[in-house]
Amino acid sequence: MHTLNGTVLQPRSADTCDVIANASVQLNDDGKIAEVTSGKASTSGDAVGGEGCWILPGFIDAHLHVSQWDRRGLDGSSLFDWLETIVHPAEQRMADLDFAGDLAERFVAGMITNGTTTVAAFGSPFATATDRVFDVFARRGLRAIYGMVLNDMNWPDALCVPADEALDQSRELAVKWHGAGDGRLQYAFSPRMATCCSETLLHGVVALAEMIDCHIFTHVAESSDQEDQVRDRFPDYIDDVDLFDDMGLLGPRTLLGHGVCLSDSQRRQVAGKQASVVHCPTANLFLESGLMDYVSHRKAGIRIALGSSIAAGPEPFMPQVAVAALQTAKALKVHAVPRRSYPVPTPAEGWWLLTRGAAEALNMGDRIGAIESGYEADCLVVRPEPWIADLPTEQQVSALLYTLRPQQIEHVFIAGRRVGV
Ligand SMILES: [Zn+2]
Repeated sequence: MHTLNGTVLQPRSADTCDVIANASVQLNDDGKIAEVTSGKASTSGDAVGGEGCWILPGFIDAHLHVSQWDRRGLDGSSLFDWLETIVHPAEQRMADLDFAGDLAERFVAGMITNGTTTVAAFGSPFATATDRVFDVFARRGLRAIYGMVLNDMNWPDALCVPADEALDQSRELAVKWHGAGDGRLQYAFSPRMATCCSETLLHGVVALAEMIDCHIFTHVAESSDQEDQVRDRFPDYIDDVDLFDDMGLLGPRTLLGHGVCLSDSQRRQVAGKQASVVHCPTANLFLESGLMDYVSHRKAGIRIALGSSIAAGPEPFMPQVAVAALQTAKALKVHAVPRRSYPVPTPAEGWWLLTRGAAEALNMGDRIGAIESGYEADCLVVRPEPWIADLPTEQQVSALLYTLRPQQIEHVFIAGRRVGV
């Protein structure tokens, strides 16, 4: 049993982030948080943290690509160029199982170094590599929702798998891995995007996800070029959201990556089906796809998580992705008419999006994302700059979001187990 001492940061809602000074967090042997007390540090022998330390819920990265871990920061492309020059060769490498296993090890080390305890990640189109990556996640203790990427057209032949074969392979992987690792691992059926998938494939995904109770990951409305391509291929549909809705793909288990170009009617459609959008602000800027209107998405009632979108986004440290979300909103505010009418989210909302809000968007809000009794013990012990402790609470919440750095993370726990790089 571990004990963590320090100041607890507790995002409670999009508006409220509590700070509990001199707290002590006891972890149970079953991997859950036993209790959180304040006022007195525990002196038990296995206690970590203490004076100057903060205890945060582990970060949740709800959209990224394992095969692109070592392709971060390659600037100079728009979305389609990027897919061709960077993504295709990056995924092709995963055909080599030893490479896939090695990259997965480096990916997990990268997540832990950056305080990310839960990922909702895309795999590659290779079933064997997907299985190998799951093996690594299981052994290293990462919490992950993951799956084989599905595309059977408009993608290089070597990276396409025919619908029937891909669905069979995905079903086998889902049966093996969904709920494995004491529930830490879940399977996601992952049709890449509308233009790369046949209707047979999409219908199969909907049926299997429903049957096995799995997530569906995909990309929507990422850029205006992508929306043009969707309209060219599916002239009977307004856009990819309309298509996915008609195919039955939108539901409470669906995670829609990006959603930069959603119109008001699409927002209502997504919210009405209780699908979640993963906001990827660093990627949207990096590939110049656009500025997602987070405030309008939220007003429509869409559940939102944040994604690093590695490697379309170059930044794996999720607090900086939250900062980019705030800065994107500020950029939209600068251009809003009238200028002051755009309500920029606060740093407290940034923390919520990294933790409990993301957990809710993943339907895991009752299990992870909070430092509370009964929750899975996914926690970070960090040692930020000491002056932050002297600020009023609201300023602490802000300064911590903007200034925390990965090298200030001292311990990472997932399901109560201390994990290392
Ligand atoms: Zn993506």
